[in-house]
Amino acid sequence: MKKITNSNKDDQNLELTLRPTKWNEYVGQENVKANLRLIIDAAKGRNENCDHLLFYGQAGLGKTTLAYLVGKEMGVNIRSTSGPALERAGDVAAILSNIEPNEILFIDEAHRINKMTEEILYPAMESRKLHLIVGKGPSARTFSLDLPPFTIIAATTRTNLLSGPLRSRFGATFRLDYYQNEDIEKILERSAKILGIELTPEATTVLAKVSRFTPRVANRLLKRARDFAQVNKLKNIDEKVVHETLKLLKIDSLGLEETDRQLLLTIIKKFNGGPVGLKTLGASLNEEVGTIEEVLEPFLMKVGLLNRTPAGRIAAPLAYKHLGTAEKRSLV
Ligand code: ADP
Repeated sequence: MKKITNSNKDDQNLELTLRPTKWNEYVGQENVKANLRLIIDAAKGRNENCDHLLFYGQAGLGKTTLAYLVGKEMGVNIRSTSGPALERAGDVAAILSNIEPNEILFIDEAHRINKMTEEILYPAMESRKLHLIVGKGPSARTFSLDLPPFTIIAATTRTNLLSGPLRSRFGATFRLDYYQNEDIEKILERSAKILGIELTPEATTVLAKVSRFTPRVANRLLKRARDFAQVNKLKNIDEKVVHETLKLLKIDSLGLEETDRQLLLTIIKKFNGGPVGLKTLGASLNEEVGTIEEVLEPFLMKVGLLNRTPAGRIAAPLAYKHLGTAEKRSLV
């Protein structure tokens, strides 16, 4: 379990403050929104609960926000849990047996649901039956409980890790993509307004460029820039404040952090540019394989700095160019 530090807690509070609560505040992902609206309107028209939904995409792209917006639109309550919290069948049974009609159960990090536990979800999702086994060995008995209509919305960064049977029980699956820079700019402008920050258009542009096309990163960097301005008794956040903040955070012109650069440099210097296997890379960086695959690589691939091949990871030509200039000049 992650330790919650103060700044971590601050970031969580900030996330709640900035989380869109209306559809028109949810920027971008137009196709996903249009499809969701259709599902919601159809369900409402039939006076039914909405289909089970699966959202997948990188962390911070807005999966949780979207789940809460669906709940709001359907006018129903949302219960929230996460894959790691559903370790035993009893954990799922306890939640489902308390679920109220039409409620939504939001399961974050769904790829981390224990595989044994998953099996209790199948009949619950398909035919609203909760099968419970009481006792052990020959005296064990199975009870079946009827559940009210309900909806599961699951979110995951790794849809390939969900088992086939679980995946097939969702009525619709939506992939959230990285955002366009203009969308990130809109998100930053909205967040600045909520937080009462004066952000110049130039500062917005720079912040958007280094936000890894991800709303959560954009909001986090905005907050760091606000801290910088506050401590230095500056009224506005202009380009200079943003550059100084990024320098302190060691974030470069593409939004890479120290760990990203370390990963690329390791491939280039230690492994001659690759290909290098994921496990070898993990051991060399002293980093968990899952973190490399889930957190670091998707963005590096998106910006064309890294390639995944069957033989292993390869640093793309752009990585040499980027790190070459980044090493000689100042970072931002
Ligand atoms: P995920 O569940 O995918 O990790 P979240 O839904 O928790 O991401 O989003 C992280 C933060 O980013 C939210 O608190 C919200 O402030 C912001 N955010 C995400 N998506 C959007 C969006 N489409 N429009 C505006 N803000 C967004």
